[in-house]
Amino acid sequence: MARYTGPNCKMCRREGCKLYLKGERCTNGKCAFDHRSTAPGQHGAARKKVGEYGKQLREKQKARRYYGVLEGQFKHYYELAEKMDGITGVNLLILLESRLDNVVYRMGMAASRKEARQLVLHSHFTLNGKKVSTPSILVKPGDVIAVKESSKEKSKIKALGEAMATAHAPKWLENDAAKLLTKVVARPAREDIDFEFEEQLIVELYSK
Ligand code: SF4
Repeated sequence: MARYTGPNCKMCRREGCKLYLKGERCTNGKCAFDHRSTAPGQHGAARKKVGEYGKQLREKQKARRYYGVLEGQFKHYYELAEKMDGITGVNLLILLESRLDNVVYRMGMAASRKEARQLVLHSHFTLNGKKVSTPSILVKPGDVIAVKESSKEKSKIKALGEAMATAHAPKWLENDAAKLLTKVVARPAREDIDFEFEEQLIVELYSK
């Protein structure tokens, strides 16, 4: 599937906030946004008046880039969110948060969602005992996500497992670092999403 391969840090500068796309680099003082936060391009530093549509578009792009989802896939999540009970914008964030690659990231087995996606694509995980390699699978309460038995001895996975032992998983996940697994104990709630989104703007954009 097509995927954005350009510079990640440019996306943060475009969205005007840190999206934490590069793992350790985002927090170790080497973050490009900390040094230069203006939008990319020749006129990036110029002040621009952003209209209503511009704000809605930026909010959608911010969420899409934060979760590493392509345009068509994002629209698909929106359509699913609309059909669910409750508030569409919140449903959308819950669906994005429930993606398998995000769960691998949240359980502490990867430094970024991008790395988590790679680990899933390389079939290092099982879902309820079955091998999986689709990062977009949506997990639900009761699901168990575990490192595949044959991957546990790989040095990279061992190192990530050590990181998992000190990770703080959100309350909707129950980590068992010794077994390199996590159990989904609830659906993620809006307050579990520790990033500032104005999801109503995304709803307004798609409702036009
Ligand atoms: Fe964004 Fe991370 Fe790059 Fe900083 S280092 S600009 S947070 S991707």
